[in-house]
Amino acid sequence: MLKIYNTLGKKLEEFKPIKPGQVSIYVCGPTVYDYLHVGNFRGPVFFNFVKNWLEHIGYKVEYALNFTDVEDKIINRAVVEKKTAKEISEFYIQEYKKDFLSLGLTPHDYNPKVTDHMPEIIQMISQLIENKKAYVTSGVGQAQDVNYSISDFKDYGKLSGRKPEELQSGVRIEVDEKKKNPLDFALWKSAKSEEANWPSPWGAGRPGWHIECSAMIHALFGNQIDIHGGGLDLMFPHHENEIAQSEGCTGETFVKYWMHWNMIQFNGAKMSKSIGNIISLRDFLKDQHPEIYKWMMLTVHYRSTAEFGVEAIDRAISGLARVYSALAMAETVLATCTGEAKKDEKFETELTLAWQKIMEAFNDDFGTPAGFAVMFDVIRGFNAKNKRGMKPIPTTQSQCEQFIAFIKTFGRLLSLFQQPASDFLTSLDNQLLKKSGVSRDLVDQLVQERAAARLAKDFARSDELRKKLTDMNIAVSDLPTGSFWEVVK
Ligand SMILES: [Zn+2]
Repeated sequence: MLKIYNTLGKKLEEFKPIKPGQVSIYVCGPTVYDYLHVGNFRGPVFFNFVKNWLEHIGYKVEYALNFTDVEDKIINRAVVEKKTAKEISEFYIQEYKKDFLSLGLTPHDYNPKVTDHMPEIIQMISQLIENKKAYVTSGVGQAQDVNYSISDFKDYGKLSGRKPEELQSGVRIEVDEKKKNPLDFALWKSAKSEEANWPSPWGAGRPGWHIECSAMIHALFGNQIDIHGGGLDLMFPHHENEIAQSEGCTGETFVKYWMHWNMIQFNGAKMSKSIGNIISLRDFLKDQHPEIYKWMMLTVHYRSTAEFGVEAIDRAISGLARVYSALAMAETVLATCTGEAKKDEKFETELTLAWQKIMEAFNDDFGTPAGFAVMFDVIRGFNAKNKRGMKPIPTTQSQCEQFIAFIKTFGRLLSLFQQPASDFLTSLDNQLLKKSGVSRDLVDQLVQERAAARLAKDFARSDELRKKLTDMNIAVSDLPTGSFWEVVK
């Protein structure tokens, strides 16, 4: 039984979708005016897992992530680059998709764009005016603005727990004489310039950000959806306003489960343009394997802050190296297995129990850290059974096969461990060698010299070479099939 922490109500709740067996998910996507930074992909990586897990436990999932392609930042960028807003947004949508695919994530079922949903947005605003939840004021020139009247929606504040009265006294709000309540927000803004505006019953203008998500959700899924996700920074006011708009329009509960992922910190500090510690995913992936990023995002619970810095990267590298080394060992041992195979039923039972624990962890609000802990227990158990260079016993083959299947199944859900183990370890070795300035050729040469010394029983020379390699952070193992090396951190 799956339980989800619902931000609406702030408690764990048993998951019961609106339609049995089916789940609709909408996640607030990026505003497309630049390359996206590493923080922007935490949600997509996590929700990729959410979708996989829901499908794994038998649901049919429909998942949408939108592109905000109407926004001041896009228009400003277009002015600077002497392009149209559409050229800017289309370019960065394609760049986003490239980043997304380079992370090896499954494409969404829908990627709605604001510019494709203008009629639905206008229709929704008209309905809100009719329902007396919104009002029209004078705008630029002959055009008019439309604002949402939060005093006319009694549940305002139910998601964030912030009451309008408290907000007004505690926050500095820009005074706009045309607004009934200082917290009323724009549904439609009259056009200030020629750039990016659309005809409407209130004259030329464009929608406010909040109404865009409400209208796209209604267009794709109807009045209600099961899960709405977003970063914690979007809970207020964006999601609070989405509720006010959608429920103010239909009178029905808009979202059953609200899920918010926490932010990323860079060496303990918030990522921000002003501090200058923002790194684009594109730049990060120039030096690092995509699985390193996914490992960093998924080994931390989605509701906790994720640390993004040198130490966190190192931890991810050594964690991945442990998993891939165990897989590589299983493959190597498997290649040496000959003769009659015998099923290891004890190990099979151990893995079944471990899988039950993983199910419990994932069903408990997508508890990935607890899931990884179980996976590491399995790896420790397997490593203890199969020391390097040990002679295979009759059950070795089945142990190795079961172990590989277990890790690959666990990894598929998280979109990890999908590379051939030797490829991954080689790329990691290359990365580490590059960092320490040691060439692969030199390492190969020293390892071969050492093997020759061993063969000639010149153990003094062989020890001397091992010491030299150790100083270069290279560990050598002597297997029946030859000598192998790896970079150790
Ligand atoms: Zn949104």
